[in-house]
Parts: sequence; structure tokens; C-alpha cells
Amino acid sequence: MSEIVLQQTRIDQGLPYYQRFVESFPTVTALANASEDTVLKHWEGLGYYSRARNLHATAKYISEQLNGKFPEQYNELLKLKGVGPYTAAAISSICFDEAAPVIDGNVFRFVSRFFGISEDISQAKTRNVFLKVLNELIDKEQPGEFNQAIMEFGATVCKPSPDCEHCIFRQECYAYQHKAQKHLPVKLSKPTIQEKYFHYFVIECEGRFLMKQRKASIWKGLYEFLLFEGGNNLDSNDYPFDHNKARFIQTSDKFRHLLTHRIIWLQFYHYTVGEKYFSYLMNEFDLQPYSYEEVLTLPKPKSIINYLQQVSF
Ligand code: SF4
Repeated sequence: MSEIVLQQTRIDQGLPYYQRFVESFPTVTALANASEDTVLKHWEGLGYYSRARNLHATAKYISEQLNGKFPEQYNELLKLKGVGPYTAAAISSICFDEAAPVIDGNVFRFVSRFFGISEDISQAKTRNVFLKVLNELIDKEQPGEFNQAIMEFGATVCKPSPDCEHCIFRQECYAYQHKAQKHLPVKLSKPTIQEKYFHYFVIECEGRFLMKQRKASIWKGLYEFLLFEGGNNLDSNDYPFDHNKARFIQTSDKFRHLLTHRIIWLQFYHYTVGEKYFSYLMNEFDLQPYSYEEVLTLPKPKSIINYLQQVSF
């Protein structure tokens, strides 16, 4: 659980989620038997929701196909949804003492500096270069301790701006001896950041709001208002419905949602409509009506929660 919760997430942010998850779902079977909405509600606000969906699918797979027995070996763990080489190595070494080295950003940094490895870490094949070194280095008796120590060392001493003056490896370290700390690790390709603009229409009729469950993409399984994806500014001619049949209430501030390679700008437009047009929009856009209390209970992306906390209906 902690390895999945902490992917791309800081410990202080992930800890309360971890605690709530293990309290609500103390066994694999308990998680497997929960509904997807309940699982997503527990994950609400933590982001990267595919982790929650994969975790749920994995719990079902273990419960139904493996008779509830959690796999213990690196190669078996790799077959689980949402478990990649890093997570499989962390689980198999920390929980089951298998000598499987972990490689994360901290390990790349320390190992490349210590051994003077200048291969580009943004290339997938470079992983094997590091793996070869680490397979020889890993403590076969205490692989879990070794993995945690090397990651911690990269996070606390051999940081992006390293604390070489207090480092016990100074004499043997290639980067220190060659003053190459700033140049290692080598990472040539930088991902481009894409900007997107989400315009949400909050359609209300006598205390009921139209929402739907997202079928794909980053927020799959979460609930959202009627969405129009467009440019930075939206003209009423671009609206997906006839705004003359609706009464404008207010436009929200813009919310910024940061993802690894993407920035999403969100803005909310609150309209009230009559019963007839409400039903029409519901059918036209495959939406469902929910009371305000239900809207609060449904699992939603963090930006929609932030919006709901700012406005009063
Ligand atoms: S001497 Fe500096 S660069 Fe080398 S391992 Fe230690 S902290 Fe990292």
C-alpha cells in the first residue's frame, strides 16, 4: 500500500491516505469487495487515480485468481497491474528479502556520481547499466535495508545540490574527485509541458446538479460537471448548449492543476435552468442529476473539490 500511495507523492501528503486505506480495507479481500466509487472516494485529492483503480483491480485479481495469497517474488509482482520494476523491487526486497535492486531518481543520482556513469538516464536502456552495478553491490542478506539506505542517501546527502563536505564516500567518489557533481547524472531529454483548458458548466435545477462519471483519461471513474475543452478564453458561442435557455449565476476563478507533464486550467460556469431544459441536457450529454449532498459525496478530482469549497449554492 505505502509503495503505491507514495508513487509521485510526498510522505506527509500520502500518510493520511495510507492510514485511511488500511483502516477501511485491512485485507486484500476487503479491498477487492469494495465498490470502485468507495475506493476512489478514499483516494480523492491524492491524484494519479490510475493507481487507485489498479490497486483495486490487483486486489480482485489476488483475491479471485491467487486465492488471496499475495505474490512474493519480483517476477510475479511485476505481473500485477500498476506494479513496475521499481515497486516490484521495493516490495520483494523489503517484504520478502529478495535481492532485487530498486532504481529511482535518488539511486540514479548517487550511483552515477559515485561511479562516474555518464549514460543518459532519460534513455530506457540505461537502466540496465545501473542494474548491472547494483546487482553486484546489493547486500544479499539485507536487500531491503540496502535499498532503503541507498534511496535515503540520495534523498538526504547526495541531493541535487550534494552535501559532499559531510559525505563518507568523498575519497572514493568519482564526481567529488573530478568536480563533476553538477554534470551527473546526465539527463538529456526534458519532457515538454502541455497546457490544457477545462471549462466546466455547473448546471443546476432546483438544488440538483448534472454530473457524469468520466470514462477515460486521468480522472477515469471520478465525477465531473459538463465539460468543454477549449482554449484559454471561452466565448458563449462555443458553449456546448444554448446559453439563452439558461440563467447565468457566476463564473469562478481559474484553478491550476499540475500534473507531471501537463498543466490543466479549470474554470467553472454556474447556470440554472428550468426542468424541461435540465432533462434535455441530461439526455443530450448523458449526465445524471445529483443533490448537492450527493455531489459532495461522489469521488471527484481535487480541483472540483476546491471549487465546491469556494462557492456556496
Ligand atoms: S561525495 Fe558528494 S557527489 Fe559523491 S556521493 Fe558523496 S555527496 Fe554524492
